[in-house]
Amino acid sequence: MDLHSLSLSALQAQFRSGTLTPLDALDALEKRISAVDGRVGGYLSLNRDRARAEAAAADVSLPLGGIPIAIKDVINVQGDPCTAASRILQGYTATYDATVVRKLRAAGAIPFGRVNMDEFAMGSSTENSALQRTANPWDLNRIPGGSSGGSAAVVAADEAFASLGSDTGGSIRQPAALCGCVGLKPTYGRVSRFGLIAFASSLDQIGPFTKTVEDSARVLNALAGKDPQDSTSLDLPVDDYTRLLGRDLKGVKLGMPKEYFIDGIDPQVDAAVRAAIRQYEALGAEIVEVSLPHTEYAVAVYYIIATAEASANLARYDGVRFGKRADDPRNLLEMYVRTRSEGFGEEVKRRIILGTYVLSSGYYDAYYLRAQKVRTLIRQDFTKAFEKVDALICPTSPEVAFKIGDRSGDPLKMYLADIFTIAANLAGNCGISLPCGFANVEGSRLPVGLQLLGKPMEEAKLLSIAHAYEQSTPWHKERPAL
Ligand code: GLN
Repeated sequence: MDLHSLSLSALQAQFRSGTLTPLDALDALEKRISAVDGRVGGYLSLNRDRARAEAAAADVSLPLGGIPIAIKDVINVQGDPCTAASRILQGYTATYDATVVRKLRAAGAIPFGRVNMDEFAMGSSTENSALQRTANPWDLNRIPGGSSGGSAAVVAADEAFASLGSDTGGSIRQPAALCGCVGLKPTYGRVSRFGLIAFASSLDQIGPFTKTVEDSARVLNALAGKDPQDSTSLDLPVDDYTRLLGRDLKGVKLGMPKEYFIDGIDPQVDAAVRAAIRQYEALGAEIVEVSLPHTEYAVAVYYIIATAEASANLARYDGVRFGKRADDPRNLLEMYVRTRSEGFGEEVKRRIILGTYVLSSGYYDAYYLRAQKVRTLIRQDFTKAFEKVDALICPTSPEVAFKIGDRSGDPLKMYLADIFTIAANLAGNCGISLPCGFANVEGSRLPVGLQLLGKPMEEAKLLSIAHAYEQSTPWHKERPAL
């Protein structure tokens, strides 16, 4: 097996037995990146020299000692560019490490390279990046999903052993599904967002992309925990997320939310997910039908709350302190207007306008306040369902990767890409996407993702349920032909 195709855990075993060094791993990644990234377009930049110095000094006895990890361009790494794939932050260099980066470093990992995304994490295809296009490694004419499309593509293409992404409405799980890797969205508050460029602060979570479920648990071990610099991070004990891996599924109850098995899902996705459910039964899990009755409102509620929060969070990009400033403005107002008009892309502007509207006086009660009330109902749906089951099982995305350009003219159609992922962000519980098969579409073999949703703070159980399925199926071992 080529070195670049190893899982994080397999690579680590070789570091520890002395058959490979962290510098070998970096060499292999750099070679792989020069061979394929011209076509995939996942990386925005690499910090070769710093990574090599860190690899040379790495302590492989640490939990992630010597493992290079790619970072979504929305998470600050001191000395690296951090642009959120936006023109407005072009030229900006991070002045500090995000808490997740500090924690990765403490675990011995090496932040390596910046990966592409939809501008400010707004989108489902990575086509909203102002900087470059990223392709799906399984079919280079198709999108990798989004907004963390670069994070998913580089792991799927064996250009990274793991990466970090962020998930506000599905941006870890959906690209993981479309690229055929494992993507974990931790419980809201499990992982600090200090140093994450904020999109919608009541929804954003950082999480890992990996090749296997075990690797996901290992990276979460490093990320999780209370951070005094993020008041929304929860002061609850950090589990060993590998603790329950390998447990059997006797006595485990999984709920199929009936609202997630509807007309309009790609029949091949539906078939793959149903086969996965049968596999769970064969492994000893009990499957029951459950209902999340307010599911139909989730997308609408999300696009009110997320845009409202985004309009406030993005107010800080005004040309004064960060990134781009318009050339030769005649006065202060023109400086603001031109900086923002020239700096933000179309989708970001659309969200700022929507969010400003739903918060404006006279509309606040009708939209924002009402959306918050429905959000409570959505959260209660999950609380009730979790009284009966250990986790929910459903598709991650209603479809496989679509062709580049297919949706870019139709924002509403694009918003529907996240109908199965958004509710978990509104409710705050944890979720994971893992490969469960392939769909054959016009001569391409495209990955299908299975989504498992867990109770808040029950990542260890969620990962063990995911692991049991993964280990009994071949899907995670398949690699795209690049
Ligand atoms: N696709 C959704 C959006 O465009 C979710 C994005 C995300 O999770 N960051 O807002």
